[in-house]
Amino acid sequence: MSADAFVPTPRSKVKRRPMYASYDRDSVYRLLDAGLVCHIAYVIDGQPFVTPTAYWRSADRIFWHGSAASRMLRSQAGGIPVCLTVTHVDALVVARSAFHHSINYRSVMAFGRAAAITDAAAKEAALHALIERLYPGRWPSLRPVLAQELAATMVMSMRIEEAAAKARSGAREDDAGDYAWPLWAGVLPLATRVGRVEPDARLMPGVPLPPEVARYAVGGRLDAILSDLARENPAAR
Ligand SMILES: Cc1cc2nc3c(=O)[nH]c(=O)nc-3n(C[C@H](O)[C@H](O)[C@H](O)COP(=O)(O)OP(=O)(O)OC[C@H]3O[C@@H](n4cnc5c(N)ncnc54)[C@H](O)[C@@H]3O)c2cc1C
Repeated sequence: MSADAFVPTPRSKVKRRPMYASYDRDSVYRLLDAGLVCHIAYVIDGQPFVTPTAYWRSADRIFWHGSAASRMLRSQAGGIPVCLTVTHVDALVVARSAFHHSINYRSVMAFGRAAAITDAAAKEAALHALIERLYPGRWPSLRPVLAQELAATMVMSMRIEEAAAKARSGAREDDAGDYAWPLWAGVLPLATRVGRVEPDARLMPGVPLPPEVARYAVGGRLDAILSDLARENPAAR
């Protein structure tokens, strides 16, 4: 295992289909950077919750944010253990028998402790990173952040203690005898793609589509665009 890999422990080591696993930071970061939404698992008073939410990464930290009134964020603020997953669904794999159908995917499971960013400047810097991650160059053109907006927002940060990436790709091998079965089998690729922009109804006349939004070209794969943006963003390294 390279020095630049997360060291798996019994908590994070992939046991089921270990041939799909990788622990190197590059693989983990690449999958994180290609995503927009994660699922965060945490326990409050013995009850597990899993909350879908937007996230962003900087170096070995993952960030998420929300209303200061959020139960999830208030309960995590003190530094509780969390498990965060990101999933990319790449294809349906259609086989000749029920049990050989599968899904091609790339996923990450990361472990750490959540903690609220309390310093106002650090909080604003983290929110700046979120906007710049999605829309590079947009922050300076925005209406400045108000103190009450910042106060009403919680930003959480988690250093990745351990993480595993797991990915399945390609076709599925049917059992030898199944190839004589006269039924279609194969791979049905899936992806989230960019649609046509819908300008806001109250847009001021003559306001053009900015380059940071035009980056999301119609028909483009969202994971590919997010990956390109992350590669160009020095803050993510
Ligand atoms: C889109 C999608 C669909 C899936 N469908 C199924 C399904 O129908 N049935 C099924 O059994 N499994 C499915 N999986 C795989 C599933 O995520 C688990 O890997 C699998 O169920 C084994 O779970 P386990 O707890 O026994 O794994 P273990 O190998 O015991 O898990 C140990 C550790 O391995 C790592 N790990 C496990 N799974 C993942 C993962 N997916 N990504 C990153 N790290 C991981 C974690 O660190 C975890 O703590 C699917 C995965 C994806 C992404």
